Amino acid sequence: MMVKIQVVNKRGVNRMLEIKEFMKNVEKDLIDFCQNLVRIKSFTGREEEVSRYMEKKMIELGYDEVIVDGLGSVIGRMGTGDKKLLFDSHIDTVAVDDEKDWSVDPFGGVIKDGKLFGRGSVDMKSAGAASVYAGYIAKELGLLEGKTIYVSTSVMEEDYDGEALLYEFENLGIKPDYAVICEATQCRLAIGQRGRALMKIDMEGVSAHGSAPEKGVNAVYKMVEIINRIEDLEKKYINMAGKIGEKPSIALTKIECETASYNAIPSKSTVYVDRRLIKGETYEIVENEMNEIVEGTGATWEIFKVIGKSWTGEEVVLNSFMPFWDISLEHGLTKAAFKAYEDGNERKPELMMWDFSTNGVATDKLNIPTIGFGPGDSKMAHVKDEHCPIDDIVKACEFYTNLIKNI
Ligand SMILES: [Zn+2]
Repeated sequence: MMVKIQVVNKRGVNRMLEIKEFMKNVEKDLIDFCQNLVRIKSFTGREEEVSRYMEKKMIELGYDEVIVDGLGSVIGRMGTGDKKLLFDSHIDTVAVDDEKDWSVDPFGGVIKDGKLFGRGSVDMKSAGAASVYAGYIAKELGLLEGKTIYVSTSVMEEDYDGEALLYEFENLGIKPDYAVICEATQCRLAIGQRGRALMKIDMEGVSAHGSAPEKGVNAVYKMVEIINRIEDLEKKYINMAGKIGEKPSIALTKIECETASYNAIPSKSTVYVDRRLIKGETYEIVENEMNEIVEGTGATWEIFKVIGKSWTGEEVVLNSFMPFWDISLEHGLTKAAFKAYEDGNERKPELMMWDFSTNGVATDKLNIPTIGFGPGDSKMAHVKDEHCPIDDIVKACEFYTNLIKNI
């Protein structure tokens, strides 16, 4: 059900009160929308049904243009003005492999104690819904003069951070002046994120029969030295001063080997290394560190490329080096965000940095000034009984709308 309100006060006494008033009338529709999104399963690479639903909803809400791109992301546009602001939320989710541990149906769209429960409720369908409604409210209230608003609801973020959003920029000719990543911040203002790199280290050996190991070279034994070096570095970073998120981290996350059988000496071993990057940690720094880790062992390393397929059948390749990014408090976007928050809450927003990776790696790559703001607590992402407070969803929608007004 859509509610139309006569806007009496075009240049009005108080646009932010107008927004608050309007919000009250669409709140129920917004939350219904969130519930429906949670009810549609949309694991990474399998988002077709949710993409189609999103497309339908944007058309229904009067978006000026709605595009489903080659990877299956859905992008809605409002307005044609020179100032271009983009909101991005991913509509894929991680899988549920612990359904029996949940206290509610992870795909039921259940609301309990003022919270929406379910996979994707916090990561991050509620945020996507809030941004879609913000575009709609902005149009209804006549806030779009001189502005173009893009609402991107993108696919495949969970395994391919930034790639779907980069695809939009490269293939749809979208070049926003500003971006908002709508990942969970508990309605605080995110002014940056830790970077992420994933490396693959390969060690060659020589296969032989298990009964005569001296005739081969065991690629797993040769890897031990490297594993020890990674562990030493991991401890060093853990013991550094500073909070998690403000210091680097490194961890071995996977190990595999190639062997002809259970009674053969492995001819190759591989380990994967997850490295989180802080401000100033460039590719060169990581390169030097990795060269030291493999030095003298005969191993080789590379930035790991994750390759997958979107629901449309197109291949996606993630080059897993995504540096830290942040935005200055003096930037016009940050200032507009402060004002947008103050309009809704009559106080300044709390600031934070994401310690995980987001689609902000794509906007950073293209030097698009970016902030983050989203409903719910990121600690609830990927866990059982994932949930998002309803109040946060409404607050986020109000913030996005105020930001459109203030930008
Ligand atoms: Zn996630």
